[in-house]
Amino acid sequence: METAINIAADVRSGKRTAESVVRESLDAIESGNGKLNALLGVFSSAIEDAREIDRRIAAGEDVGVLAGVPIVMKDNMLVRGERCSAGSRILENYDAPYDSTVTTRLRAAGAVLIGRANMDEFAMGSSTENSHYGPSRNPWDVSRVPGGSSGGSAVAVAAGFAPIALGSDTGGSIRQPAALCGIVGLKPTFGRVSRHGLMALSSSLDQIGPFARTVEDAELVMGVMQGKDEMDATSSYAPAGASEDKSANEVKGLRVGVPKEYFVEGMDENIKKSVLDAVAEFERAGAEIVPISLPTAEYALAAYYVIQPCEAASNLGRFDGIRFGYSSEGQTLLESYERSRGEGFGAETQRRIILGTFVSSAGYSDAFYKKASKVRTLIKRDFDEAFKRCDVIAAPTSPSLAWPIGEKFADPLSMYLSDIYTVSANLATIPAMSVPCGFVDGLPVGLQLMARPFDEQSLYRAGKFYQSVTDHHLKTA
Ligand code: GLN
Repeated sequence: METAINIAADVRSGKRTAESVVRESLDAIESGNGKLNALLGVFSSAIEDAREIDRRIAAGEDVGVLAGVPIVMKDNMLVRGERCSAGSRILENYDAPYDSTVTTRLRAAGAVLIGRANMDEFAMGSSTENSHYGPSRNPWDVSRVPGGSSGGSAVAVAAGFAPIALGSDTGGSIRQPAALCGIVGLKPTFGRVSRHGLMALSSSLDQIGPFARTVEDAELVMGVMQGKDEMDATSSYAPAGASEDKSANEVKGLRVGVPKEYFVEGMDENIKKSVLDAVAEFERAGAEIVPISLPTAEYALAAYYVIQPCEAASNLGRFDGIRFGYSSEGQTLLESYERSRGEGFGAETQRRIILGTFVSSAGYSDAFYKKASKVRTLIKRDFDEAFKRCDVIAAPTSPSLAWPIGEKFADPLSMYLSDIYTVSANLATIPAMSVPCGFVDGLPVGLQLMARPFDEQSLYRAGKFYQSVTDHHLKTA
């Protein structure tokens, strides 16, 4: 599909109707989704919403910068009146009672929401195999996973169902599937985008962000979604950061940090080469390459898999089979809770609830949760130090290429290890983005760029430059 920027320009100028764009998108879903299982549902209002945009344009109204752009939501973001299951059985019949703030803002800018994307249950996973509704498939090789947890969203963009999809990223769930599907995925700074109407997974880590083919498109969508929202106390007043005067393709003088801890012995040599080739492009264009160290990085995964389950266990407490969704009645109230949660939640969700409850329970929380929180502070300090010497950090997004469906499913630890390069940015609350940087055996590789808190601008600048000198993002599955 065309980029969001081109679609909006065409629709605004009357060259195309929003309806024709949305029909093209729905046709692509109709013919491709059976094989890929990227979308769990299409919104029945999409055509009518598009016609409304066309009517308003015909009446001379300015409908906004996303005029007629089809957008796929992740199945954990509320769109009033639409099913919203978070990939879970426990919410298989749940319809959203109100709109998330991102829904409201995207529509106010003229976007047409077309459907909801498959995901790992409650966004826990790295392959989309934890969905109650079956795995999504990678369009580059349908026998392989698309990554996760926002796998369905990534597939929707990579397969040309829509130019934009939203994901949520708690430990890598936007960047990792973007890398494995060969597209752009941005996790904004914690607080940049309102989470009102996003089903909470880990409240100190979750952020909503876009998938797109180009960095320009991701930036456009961020411009619409970001900013303070009275409905989310953690959303920030931080200014958007005006696009710098420097032309978008200019990285002369930009300091690019390369952390030695991210390029270790034993890592996939092909991925290492793709990422270092990308770094060389920056150097060639006059960027300064700075070797840096993030000494606490090796503890990030361990800290994440204490903090994340702990917060998840707490947030998932609300699903009791009485107020929400799936319900299974027992002889006693306790038995009803046990049955509803036992049958409604999948295996990985139950594993995290047990793990999270354990590490935060009396007598253990000092040894686990509190210690992990201290490690988190050290990780944050590492980045603060590093960003004194560089403006962006370049690293791999994923330690492996898209793997065969089923390969890691029975081995949670190897699944967790696939998050090794992404969880630090969430723990440190910094913005990070994955950009396609090559192919190995026909499978995409992602370059991860990280920046200071609220400095998404440097990510856009670096990402736009990189896409202007490479064509990996132009290849389609
Ligand atoms: N893969 C990570 C996990 O399973 C990250 C998930 C996410 O970012 N939502 O927790």
